[in-house]
Amino acid sequence: MGKTPEQLALTDDYGVVILTSRPDWRYRATRALSESEHLAIEANLAYPTRDPQPLALDENAWVVQSRAITETGWTANLLAPRSLIDRPVRSVLAIATGALLALMLALGLMMQRRRNYLDRIAFEARARQELEMRVAERTSALERLNTRLKQEVLEREHAQQKLFQAQDELVQASKLSALGTMSASISHELNQPLGAIRSYAENAEVLLDHQRTDDARGNLKLITELTARMASIIAHLRAFARRDHHAPESVALQPAIEDALALLAKRRRAMDVELIRDLPDAPLWVQAGETRLRQVLGNLLANALDALTEKANPRRLWISAEKTAQGVNLYIRDNGPGFTREALARAREPFFTTKTRTQGLGLGLAICETLMRALGGELVLANHPQGGALLTLRLLPARPGANLQPPEEFA
Ligand code: ADP
Repeated sequence: MGKTPEQLALTDDYGVVILTSRPDWRYRATRALSESEHLAIEANLAYPTRDPQPLALDENAWVVQSRAITETGWTANLLAPRSLIDRPVRSVLAIATGALLALMLALGLMMQRRRNYLDRIAFEARARQELEMRVAERTSALERLNTRLKQEVLEREHAQQKLFQAQDELVQASKLSALGTMSASISHELNQPLGAIRSYAENAEVLLDHQRTDDARGNLKLITELTARMASIIAHLRAFARRDHHAPESVALQPAIEDALALLAKRRRAMDVELIRDLPDAPLWVQAGETRLRQVLGNLLANALDALTEKANPRRLWISAEKTAQGVNLYIRDNGPGFTREALARAREPFFTTKTRTQGLGLGLAICETLMRALGGELVLANHPQGGALLTLRLLPARPGANLQPPEEFA
């Protein structure tokens, strides 16, 4: 311990140094002595000096570690210069402070990151909540809209049904009123042949009385013709007035055209009318009723022949058909005089006729128009650029059918 900076000092129960590594500390008092202690020291002559001088150690310079030795009442003191301890302590302190600072910094950073993380989670949760709320709002708005739309669709369907019903009734009513207003001319139409029939019959009786059987036969023939005409007038009127509830069915167009042509073949040949047909081989299926379609075709073809009577040869009749995006178009064209300007505008009105020679009823096109509408189709009247009338029937397409259904009842 002689060379080391630490010092050792053994003190007795008076606090006087009795053994030390520093000779200048020997027999010096480490604490203040009381009067009685001074007297006891003097009486015992325990030290070479009677008055131990105080050892005024600078407390800041030394770090003292003491251990009492109980058997003797002495105390062993180890004194280390504070400078010796301070340096490492300072560096330890500096390191510790540095470490502490680093730790606090790391802790701070961690806390900061944790706070950021928590903030982000909270923000995301809020955003999600907001989104969910908006989605819920939007969904309920859409649901409301949906119910309103459904309601509107229902109302519209209802209104449409009512409209159809009203239209149907209106059509029927207007037909009836048209018939009503024209009943006078109809009875005139029927009375005329009736009167003729009566006088032909009376005449025939007289002729038979005079044994002029051939002349009488001639009168009977005229009577037959007149009754046929009357039957035709009645048939037309019934067809016009009839409320048609037949659902359209699949009908092949070509056979219907052939049927209508066959009925007029005799007259056509007698008039020397050239027929020019341009129809595809494959059947064109349309939505129609067999009888209604034949009735329309018959009317249009008869009109064409009527028109051609007013023209010298060559007389021509064209029939062609084509598929369109909407269905099937059928064209009937003649090289007669064509529609007059007034007829083009009014030909579809019931009882409009320009025919005087053949005693037209003015019901043909009106009936065709009504039937075509009922079939969802259309009748278009026009004149061909090269002269003559051009009638177009626009028909709805239909799936190929068997075409074996019995023809619908003809009223
Ligand atoms: P109707 O044949 O008894 O006169 P329609 O309704 O069939 O009755 O025809 C009305 C009118 O339309 C005819 O009187 C005629 O003026 C005109 N019309 C119809 N078809 C033709 C045609 N092919 N060419 C010229 N005019 C026509």
